[in-house]
Amino acid sequence: MKPPSVELPKRLRTLERDSRGYPIPFIVMRDRSGLPHFTINDQRKLDTCVRRGLCGLCGKRFGARMWFIGGPRCFTEPTGAFIDPPSHRECGEYALKVCPYLAAPNYRRRIDARTLRPDETPDGALLVKDSTVPDARPETFGFGETDGYARYPTDGGTRVFVIGTWTRIEYWREGEKLS
Ligand SMILES: [Zn+2]
Repeated sequence: MKPPSVELPKRLRTLERDSRGYPIPFIVMRDRSGLPHFTINDQRKLDTCVRRGLCGLCGKRFGARMWFIGGPRCFTEPTGAFIDPPSHRECGEYALKVCPYLAAPNYRRRIDARTLRPDETPDGALLVKDSTVPDARPETFGFGETDGYARYPTDGGTRVFVIGTWTRIEYWREGEKLS
């Protein structure tokens, strides 16, 4: 599960690394000291991704296709929604292989979400908090390809991504693609 064991896709190579060697995704919240909080999205960066059509992981522009990662039900229910913006295929695949939350079977909670104190939040940064995100990590994650998305506010004031049609869906468990 060490980051160097999986080859870093080209688009992610320009990202800064954290102390463990993980590339810090574009969308991740950094606190005042610059420390990344991997399970918290920076709302301003999310807005930028949506407005400019950028990958949430590498921060670079999409082609015609984009990929979403989420619990399996996100892909099967007509109202399937996502908190994270989409990524390039290779960026998402890298995350599915090395991200502790996505790939490590013993990662049960979104720990980082509880570590950021309000006084550490950078000026003007907004946290995305969503009570619909379960604390329990799904065993399997879906990885789906689509050609577009829209974003809507929910009742709780958070924003989610709703997909029209999937052109491809894969399922991943513990860092491996299921056949
Ligand atoms: Zn990317």
